[in-house]
Amino acid sequence: MQSDLRSRFLIETCDVRGQLVHLDRCWADARARTHYPQNVSTLLGEAFAASALLAGTIKFDGKLTMQVRGDGDVHLLVVQVTNDGNMRGLARWKNEPESTVPHKAFGADARMIITIESEQGAEPYQGIVPLEGDSLADSIKHYFAVSEQLKTQVYFAVSDSAVSGLLLQALPPSEQVNDDDDGWSRATALADTITEQELLTTDMQTLLHRLYHEEQVRLFESSTLSFVCSCSKERTDNMLIGLGEAEVQDIVEEQGSVSIACEFCDANYDYDAVDVAALFKGYLGDAGDSNTQH
Ligand SMILES: [Zn+2]
Repeated sequence: MQSDLRSRFLIETCDVRGQLVHLDRCWADARARTHYPQNVSTLLGEAFAASALLAGTIKFDGKLTMQVRGDGDVHLLVVQVTNDGNMRGLARWKNEPESTVPHKAFGADARMIITIESEQGAEPYQGIVPLEGDSLADSIKHYFAVSEQLKTQVYFAVSDSAVSGLLLQALPPSEQVNDDDDGWSRATALADTITEQELLTTDMQTLLHRLYHEEQVRLFESSTLSFVCSCSKERTDNMLIGLGEAEVQDIVEEQGSVSIACEFCDANYDYDAVDVAALFKGYLGDAGDSNTQH
């Protein structure tokens, strides 16, 4: 079984393109941070699969963030994926939800927000998706139907050790080469027969062969995904500098040190009085403004 991979494929005879994603090490790393109750873990896993698939269908240079906020048992779910396949994500909950149906777990008013931020500093794109249907997969389908006006079907499977996802999308009319109205129904009817267990445990080539051996399928090169957090000492330094010296000194006086934990990866950044002094001295020094009067 391939690990932490995303692959594109084309069912040529159906005019349908698709993607498969399988995460295991990346998923283990994401789960290692927090002990997630079962239903929260399932929702987070689906969001990992969904973001990886979404990122694979969109051309972008930066990061894609899928976020759900609500006032239900689960109040925050966020997964980020960069164009080069670095993923991180977390969920926050008050009570273990009884269901993984999104509007029950996140609350009736919850929305999914998809943001794409570009490295080049272009205006970020933001899409708001209602949490419709019985699973996050339904929301993703809705997102594609509205944003790209393309028929899309998605399947997720989540276990404690792996996350898998399958996406099928009808080619835009301009790219269709077969005069075959039945292609989409054939492709999805076959995919409907796949069990979660099969999706989790079958390698991509075997899976595609099992489903589409009567069609003509092209499997493209895979790209790898991994759990990588973008937090760093430098970013934390800058955040403290943003707070201002007086504010940070106050915290040190009250608590002895400043401790900042990254919510995504649990990394801890600690600053004692000496570190704080060095940080602000360094900051002023770096700015080349050694004559500043305090
Ligand atoms: Zn981190």
